[in-house]
Amino acid sequence: MRIGIYGGTFDPPHNGHIAAAKAAMERLALDKLLLIPTFIPPHKALPTGAASPTQRHDMAVLATAELGKKAEVLDVELERGGPSYTWETLHLLRERYPEDELWLLMGTDMFLSFDRWREPENICRLAHLVVIARDECDRRAIARKASWLKQTWQAQVEIVDCPALPVSSTEIRADRARCREMVPEKVFAYITAHQLYF
Ligand code: ATP
Repeated sequence: MRIGIYGGTFDPPHNGHIAAAKAAMERLALDKLLLIPTFIPPHKALPTGAASPTQRHDMAVLATAELGKKAEVLDVELERGGPSYTWETLHLLRERYPEDELWLLMGTDMFLSFDRWREPENICRLAHLVVIARDECDRRAIARKASWLKQTWQAQVEIVDCPALPVSSTEIRADRARCREMVPEKVFAYITAHQLYF
């Protein structure tokens, strides 16, 4: 099986995440996609007024419904607690799926800082890296980094083009109208019902 792994804070999950996941599922013919909400993101501080881990998990489940039956949310990082290091999650998934290919999805921003993650060499041994490229400018920077990662850690890098959907969770948390426009309907209903962000 070809299994995609898409980690993120998902505070909240938005249409950019969904478009990226759809593009990767199609382009790489993934048999399964696992969305994994982080418990504590190691690379950024959660803002005040952030949704709780359980709320982020629940919103991820609602958003994942947009991706069809092959996609599901995994709560391994929430169960583990502490900072959510990707290499630990990949080790666990490798044990769970010993015969399968693991494809780790990430946006350009995350890929360009990949060498500063914990245990990048280990990650490169455990999974293919999949970068979602939004435009030509992204592609040039990605190509440079990919060739460095291949030389240094024998990384296997796949680039998936996805039409630019310039949106971030940060922007959505700050603007109710933008939120309504850029998250799936059920996620917006959840945000409203739980009085999140605004
Ligand atoms: P924040 O604004 O809070 O930093 P975010 O919008 O970047 O959040 P995350 O949950 O941190 O969302 O991102 C999870 C993954 O999705 C990362 O790999 C990130 O690069 C990627 N990503 C985020 N926004 C987009 C987008 N608009 N299109 C494609 N990928 C995205």
